[in-house]
Amino acid sequence: MFPLTEGNKHVAQLLFSTGTCPRCIFRFCGVDFHAPYKLSYEELFNELQKFLKTEKGELILEVPNPPPKKIRLHELEDGIDGTDNQSQNGEGRVSIIEGGSIAFKSSSPNVCNVCLGILQEFCEKEFIKKVCQKVEASGFEFTNLVFSVSFPPQLSVREHAAWLLVKQEMGKQSLSLGRNDIVQLKEAYKWITHPLFSEELGVPIDGKVLGHQHC
Ligand SMILES: [Zn+2]
Ligand SMILES: [Zn+2]
Repeated sequence: MFPLTEGNKHVAQLLFSTGTCPRCIFRFCGVDFHAPYKLSYEELFNELQKFLKTEKGELILEVPNPPPKKIRLHELEDGIDGTDNQSQNGEGRVSIIEGGSIAFKSSSPNVCNVCLGILQEFCEKEFIKKVCQKVEASGFEFTNLVFSVSFPPQLSVREHAAWLLVKQEMGKQSLSLGRNDIVQLKEAYKWITHPLFSEELGVPIDGKVLGHQHC
């Protein structure tokens, strides 16, 4: 069920270390099937941490690149997940990772630096239930529902910054990132929330998300 592969590891690690949520990491790794996005946040967070921690030393061996590339990738890895290399310059990032995991255990997760919580608490069952309670409290009879969401303009700036970061990181691995290689925030939001709405209200949902089309 966990959708990321070894090829996604550098990008996932980079985004995770800067405070990006698991679902946004999926988006920027181009995960375009719905199921993984619907897992609970806690499960996603734990699976992601496990994914990023395992086989750390083997990563270099699996990269089929000529020697100069290996050196570059090796330096990159030291910089990113330098838990075993205390002398390297990765300490700052590691402490962010540790801080993130501690914060998650103690209370609610840190707010994602890309989606600002839209793919965290604002797409989870608890929040959708609250929206549905409002709908039901209106007393109307209805056979379908249009759910319109406006994202703040600030989000497109963050989305674009993350896109540039990922593009740069992939460039170091001689990979490219096109504008359509990532999953749009609004798409992921629909994938997660529409089934929850239908389940709660028992009617089909049509979704509109206004604003925010980055790139
Ligand atoms: Zn996010
Ligand atoms: Zn953009």
